[in-house]
This record gives sequence, structure tokens and C-alpha cells, in this order.
Amino acid sequence: MEDNPLQEQVELLKEEIFQLKNIIKNMPGNVYWMNCNAIYQGCNTNLAKTLNFIDPDEIINKSMPMFWDDGACEAHDLNLGLMQKGESYQGEEHVLINDELHIFLSEKIILRDSKGKVSGLLGLSLDITDRKNMERALQEAKEKAEMANQAKTDFIRNMEHDLRTPLCGVLGVANHLLAIEADTDKKDLLCDIEQSVKAVLNYFDHIVEFSQFNKHIIPKLIQKFDLKKLIEGIISIESAALREKNINVIVDYADNLPTLIQTDRFRIHRILLNLVNNAVKFTKKGHIKIKVEMFEESEKKLFKIIVEDTGIGIAQKDQEMIFDKFTRCELTNKNTYKGTGLGLWIVKEFIKDMSGKIELISELNQGSSFTLSIPII
Ligand code: ADP
Repeated sequence: MEDNPLQEQVELLKEEIFQLKNIIKNMPGNVYWMNCNAIYQGCNTNLAKTLNFIDPDEIINKSMPMFWDDGACEAHDLNLGLMQKGESYQGEEHVLINDELHIFLSEKIILRDSKGKVSGLLGLSLDITDRKNMERALQEAKEKAEMANQAKTDFIRNMEHDLRTPLCGVLGVANHLLAIEADTDKKDLLCDIEQSVKAVLNYFDHIVEFSQFNKHIIPKLIQKFDLKKLIEGIISIESAALREKNINVIVDYADNLPTLIQTDRFRIHRILLNLVNNAVKFTKKGHIKIKVEMFEESEKKLFKIIVEDTGIGIAQKDQEMIFDKFTRCELTNKNTYKGTGLGLWIVKEFIKDMSGKIELISELNQGSSFTLSIPII
């Protein structure tokens, strides 16, 4: 057979055109191209299917308003306008198809001939109706959840206010009677009242702080304050329980501890209140020791507070998880000790807020020692 290079070239070009048509036909989304009068010159199989055409070529010489609703007229005008201005476009298009509103993410690219004159428009659009519906549903669910959360926070705030006020009243009366009562049996009963009320108030503090944490609304309260006085105040809050259990508190302040230190007073108070409250709660006999030291690390001044007890201790396997919210050791869960399982989580979060750290050393039935290191500001 004689070689015919021209024929070969024609065959090659035919093959290339076939492949290109094939690629366009099978492109995802809707692909179409039109002339300067916004009259379709072709489309891919997807768009042909949407328009109920058997063959994509059926679209040729038709225009949008011929088979779509009013929205298509807007799109038709938009296409004409873009071609007049020679501007491309990217945006959302809303189109009614079979009485259903569809949202498309569309891109319209101006086509030009070899001389640079506008010759038509290439359109690509993806049906994002499902994605949009999902986004809307998610947004609605988020708004509902936020409203429910706000209602919960408001409820907790109101409940806290309405219950805290009378409880503080009961506590005041119990304290007053304790001071004037001479009968030891009655004194014991008053101690019970005092401790029960304090336990409920502690519960409130945990619940309120937990709900505030979720909303990130616990402000920082940086102050210069007397740490010794703050610790004494905490010990006095626990005095009734300490007296009843006959537990001694040993305090040991480093000689170089300044009279006033500057850090977040509110957080330090809540951290120590939780740690000392736990130490008292989980200790039946022996002592509690609170030690304060000063030290320097990478040219930063820090103070260290160690809260040590001779109580029930914490098994090695539980030592990490007790800092998680609502977590309590098996041993303490059996209704022997009351609690929310939130205290140490609050401690951990407050320490994180102050760029400090907390370490725990504990042995079952021997006692626990919590060491916190906090930078002085
Ligand atoms: P709560 O004391 O309200 O249960 P916390 O978060 O303060 O919650 O403590 C979590 C758990 O860690 C406690 O339930 C207890 O099992 C254990 N725990 C905390 N402090 C001590 C301690 N000093 N001695 C023994 N166990 C402790």
C-alpha cells in the first residue's frame, strides 16, 4: 500500500477530535458552550440528560429561555451581558428544573477567536443543591443547639442565684449557732448542717464553672494578693470537717515567699479550694500539708504549691483520667464520697489558663500529693 501522509494526518486529527469530544461529553457537572447570541452550540451528556435529550447535539441552536423558567431568562441575559463586556463570571445560579429549585455553582468563561474577538461563552456548572441543603440543615441545628445551650446557661445562672441566697442564709445561721452553742451533741448536728450546705454550694460552683467554661466567659482576674491569707481562708472554710475528722493541717511557707504575689487570684483560689477540699474529703486520719515554695525556671519566677494528704490515695491506672470531666475513681464512686467529678477538670483548665502545670504523686491507701507550678506575672 502506498504511503499517503496527508491521509494519515487527517486520520490522526479525526482521532484527536473524537477523543476531545469524548472528554467533553463525559465531563462531570454541566458543560455547555454558546455563540455570541447566547445560542447553545453544544453540551456534555450530563446537561443533555438534565434537559431530557437523548443526544447532546439536540441542544444545538436552542437558547435557555426555550426550556427553562424565568430564572433561565435572567441567566440568558447575564450570558449576553458578559459577552458584551468580555467578562468572565463565577457565582451561584438558581434554576427551576421539573418544578424543583436547583442551586448551581457556575463558572462562565468568555471564548475568543484567533483575533481576540469574543466568539462565545463556555459554561461549567455543578449542582450544589444537596450540599446547600445540608449546610442549611447544619446551620439550623447549630442555631438550635446554641439556643438550647443559652437556655441551659440562663437556667443554671438563675438556679444558682435563687438557691445560693437561701443556702448562704442557712450557713450563716449554722455558723452563728455553732459559735454560741455549748452542748457538744447539738454542736455536732450544727457541724453536719454546715458541711452539707457547703457541699451543695461546692456543687453549684462546679456546675456554674463548667457551664461558663463551655462559653469561655471566665475572665482573668490578675491581682497582687497575699497568698498566705488566701490559704488561711481556704483552711477556715474546711475547718468544721477538719475538726470533725480530727485532721491536722500543716502549712509550710518558704522564707523567700513575698508578702504579695501577682497572678490570677480567682483561679488560684478555686484551684486550692478544690485540691484542699478533696484532700479533706478523701482523708480519714493523719494530716494534710500545704507547702509553698518559690523557684526560677528559664529566667521566669514561679511559685509551687504542694497539697499533700494521708488519705485513700489514687491507683496508678486512675491518675491520668481523674483530670477528665465527670470522672471519679471506682473506689470513690460507690457513694462513699459525694462529688461531681468536675473539680480536678476545673483545676486542670484553670492551670492551663495560667500557663502552669500540675503533677500528681499518689499511692493507694498511702495518700496523695498534688504539686502545681504557676508563673508569677
Ligand atoms: P469529685 O471530688 O467531685 O469526685 P474531682 O474531679 O475533684 O471530683 O476528683 C475526681 C476523682 O479523683 C475523685 O472522685 C477521686 O476519686 C479522685 N481524687 C481526687 N483527689 C483525691 C485525693 N486527694 N485523694 C484520693 N482521691 C482523690
